Amino acid sequence: MRPVAGSARTPPECAVGLRGASVGFMRYDKGMTEALALAGQAGRVGEVPVGAVVLDASGVCIGRGRNRRETDDPLAHAEIEAIRQASRVVRVRSVGNGGAVAGGAATGRASLWNLAGCTLIVTLEPCPMCAGAVVQTHMDRVVFGAWDEKLGACGSVWDIPRDPHIGHHPEVVGGLRAEECSVLLSEFFRGRRSEGGPAL
Ligand SMILES: [Zn+2]
Repeated sequence: MRPVAGSARTPPECAVGLRGASVGFMRYDKGMTEALALAGQAGRVGEVPVGAVVLDASGVCIGRGRNRRETDDPLAHAEIEAIRQASRVVRVRSVGNGGAVAGGAATGRASLWNLAGCTLIVTLEPCPMCAGAVVQTHMDRVVFGAWDEKLGACGSVWDIPRDPHIGHHPEVVGGLRAEECSVLLSEFFRGRRSEGGPAL
């Protein structure tokens, strides 16, 4: 949840990044548009502008979140809010169809925590807490916009999704519309500095 130095910089070697225009990543574009809109909402109420959505295995948005750290809860990062909302949808669906999880596999019971098959799309590289949440919920994939070289945990500072000590390894796609995501953040912090507000 910190400003990103520079914009659209070269992804670190250790993380999967967007290399050129890939048709395969276009399917996340709509989700990123929504995440950017959520980030904008956060910025307008004085929160660091970060937004996130969760898509199910069919690409349907089942979770939305925006940063609420300043106004609500210190742990209410956009990703956590989106994941919580998605898990509630998964539970309702699961109860309704005899226990199928988000990815479509029938388990015979409601797996509130299991977001297998889902994709998290977020405007800023997840921090350690949020990258941990992706692992804990067994999500298939995390797609993010701007890299966070100060607190990023999907390749920049740490690489939690591919930590060899962890058994679940979600795919990481970094740098989707990084310029837009980064500009949103840098403009927010520039405005904050001009108002004499605290630098986060
Ligand atoms: Zn976070």
